[in-house]
Amino acid sequence: MSTLTAQSPAGSIQRTRSCATGLACHRCDKHYELADTVFSCPDCGKGLDVVYDYELAARHFKDFPSSERPHNIWHFEELLPIVDAAAQARVGQFSGYTPLIRADRLGAELGLSNLYLKDDSSNRPSLSYKDRVVSMSVARLLERGKGEIGCVSTGNVGTAVASLAAKAGVDAYVFYPNALEDMKARACMALGAKVCQVEGNYDEANRRCREVAESTGMDFANITLRPFYAEGAKTAAFEIVEQLDWRTPDHIVCPAAGGTLSSRMHKGLGELQLLGLAETDGTRFHIAQPSGCNPIASAIIAEEAEVHPVTPETAAHSLAIGAPGDGYLVIDAVLKRGGTGAFASDPEIFAGIDLLAATEGLLTEPAGGTTIAVLEKLAAAGTFAPDDTVVALITGNGLKTLYDHPQKPWPAKIDCELDAMLEALTELKRGDSLMDSARAQLRA
Ligand SMILES: [Zn+2]
Repeated sequence: MSTLTAQSPAGSIQRTRSCATGLACHRCDKHYELADTVFSCPDCGKGLDVVYDYELAARHFKDFPSSERPHNIWHFEELLPIVDAAAQARVGQFSGYTPLIRADRLGAELGLSNLYLKDDSSNRPSLSYKDRVVSMSVARLLERGKGEIGCVSTGNVGTAVASLAAKAGVDAYVFYPNALEDMKARACMALGAKVCQVEGNYDEANRRCREVAESTGMDFANITLRPFYAEGAKTAAFEIVEQLDWRTPDHIVCPAAGGTLSSRMHKGLGELQLLGLAETDGTRFHIAQPSGCNPIASAIIAEEAEVHPVTPETAAHSLAIGAPGDGYLVIDAVLKRGGTGAFASDPEIFAGIDLLAATEGLLTEPAGGTTIAVLEKLAAAGTFAPDDTVVALITGNGLKTLYDHPQKPWPAKIDCELDAMLEALTELKRGDSLMDSARAQLRA
């Protein structure tokens, strides 16, 4: 990876090409040094945002063409907040740059001829979009010279922290709220992280973890490192536009929990436009949430500027954040760009998982099922023109949540003998054709 050497004299670090210049409050525009450990505004309590020198970034983009850049999370390093090249080199070398899949079969089902899936269910190392954001947290931790990281997680942040911390040689502590997804907690432990189950929901656990961070000085990936963590989400937007040959999609359908992904993709699209790399103003955002936890989508529909917290009750555990910290930013993004919020019930979410599996061969978790269910509803409502370019984000892998999906009838065991097997095959085919005609009736 090409880097610039710092101008500073003794003890100079190898610098990345990051053009980050500091931190600023989203709301009252107060500024802080990039090296500060402050993570929320002391005045108004809102999150802090990383600010950049965009003129410098534009020059770097001219000097270093895409073909010379690594196909990983650091592809657009100018617009990421990590300045220490040694820290950057130890994290996320195989994260990001997930495929943008042309979804012709799902598109045909929904009447969309230019449908794409951004497949973060194949993200490395932990099979979810969280590999993008946690890469930034762990790299920032290394910049600070620390060796322990905590997180509060509904599941995917935990597995991303466990994986990326292990590779970076950092100790990981994962706090799981109630109703955890068993497989994700097991995966964290298998990866060597210390896991603590907390009585309470995500929002309660999040508040307490903030106190743990304050009283111990331990950094938390998604609390004390949050301004850096959030920047990782922009990379999904950068990649989508580049993968579409620098054309911006007409629509992005994105699931929301805390609101980081959609709000920072909005920021990322704006940055591509600022740098003159793509015209991105036309992209509309559609926010998908489960009916049992839809504070952001509800606020968008009601045209309110702030979310009203809810108590989550949904099978989509990775979207079960009732008090989304970045909710107001998502609302602002949808207001500026156009778009909608919509939600899906648990049965619709699992039907979405099945539809994606049957058409595109992708097994996603309930968050991805939520996105597909909402995509289906918006398509049916005529939100998209048939030839609009629509990108839906598949943010997590179904292998981690398979035990939480409704069980399909388990096949009876038969003799390992030709006649029995032929008979069973005939039965299975009959079952398929019954299912097909039921589906056809449903759609008619
Ligand atoms: Zn403020």
